[in-house]
Amino acid sequence: MAAGVELGFAAAPGPGGSWRLRSPYFPSKVGGWPAWLGEVGLPSPAALRCARCRQPRSFLLQLYAPLPQRPDAFHRTLFVFACRGASCYRLPGPLGPLCVFRNQLPRRNDTYPEEPPPEEPPPEPTAAPPCRLRCGAALCRVCGCLGPHVCGRCRHAVYCGPEHQAMDWRRGHRRSCGKHAAGGDSVVAIPEHNEFLFPEYEILIEPEEPEFPADSTVDPDDEQGAVDTSKDPKEQEELRATDSAGEAFQSLDEKTLEAMAKHETKEDKIFQMFKERVAAEPEQIIRYCRGGEGPIWVSDENIPEENDIPNCSCGAKRIFEFQIMPQLLNHLQVDSLGESIDWGTLVVYTCADNCGGGNEYLEEFIWKQDFSADSIYLPSS
Ligand SMILES: [Zn+2]
Ligand SMILES: [Zn+2]
Ligand SMILES: [Zn+2]
Ligand SMILES: [Zn+2]
Repeated sequence: MAAGVELGFAAAPGPGGSWRLRSPYFPSKVGGWPAWLGEVGLPSPAALRCARCRQPRSFLLQLYAPLPQRPDAFHRTLFVFACRGASCYRLPGPLGPLCVFRNQLPRRNDTYPEEPPPEEPPPEPTAAPPCRLRCGAALCRVCGCLGPHVCGRCRHAVYCGPEHQAMDWRRGHRRSCGKHAAGGDSVVAIPEHNEFLFPEYEILIEPEEPEFPADSTVDPDDEQGAVDTSKDPKEQEELRATDSAGEAFQSLDEKTLEAMAKHETKEDKIFQMFKERVAAEPEQIIRYCRGGEGPIWVSDENIPEENDIPNCSCGAKRIFEFQIMPQLLNHLQVDSLGESIDWGTLVVYTCADNCGGGNEYLEEFIWKQDFSADSIYLPSS
């Protein structure tokens, strides 16, 4: 568990490569439909609704993160969902437009063979994920989550709720309703719902290289000293300007300026550290280190205190597991002229005991931190 940080990178699946992103291959991936792990106790449509606008959240990404020392977590995947409503991202902090679920299975289970799948395409690769789990539970035709609602006319198409039924109706079910061939679910081509789903990528994992090569080590104290010295003349100048502006306000202004300068230095320092740490691998979208080195923050604002992170429902503490980086936004096609989905970083905390229950999907905790207003971060694209 004391292993270093692992980084995740987004890779386009390539022609004919999307079979790798389906459940039997235990993928880590962004966008499209979730590739569910276990088939028991999937998150309910209600649990997947945004806490701010109450619309269904889209599947954002999943990470395959088994715990080798735990037989009950021989397979283990974390699933993150995110609302598509830009205005839901205005506030920092917990949950809101985001949620995360954890699921795990022992090596011997009802769904997957004990041996790992072959690293080659199946004989008849299909691009689309199945619209039914092997256990028979039907999935919403739009989002791939549990679909307890059925089209009242054909009694065939299923949905997570009325929003996706309406979306599918507009996008073509109006014409195909009732026309499905007898005996096959897979015959009905699922229309692409790009206005709801995020684009699909495979996530490739690599260990982070050691932070600083030995020959270019900078003594952090020296650097700190240099920053402080360079600030000083400016500060002095500002204080002198205050002097001439009027002696009566001097002490107040001095204090304010000092506080401002202090805040600026601290803020710059955290943001500076973030930029330096990311600079070696600017394309990283994930930093993973369960229970090890903590997240890197983008600002000194809205860093959660220990008691901001609720315990798991089993009573155990939650520990840092991974963070999602702002670079992922470049892959999601969410830029618009107006307000966009946005974050500085999303930090996921999971049960320290990795409790199991009945192999159902358990909700964990996610925290959103934003860039501070005066930090300018332009991830390379
Ligand atoms: Zn929302
Ligand atoms: Zn749906
Ligand atoms: Zn229908
Ligand atoms: Zn727990």
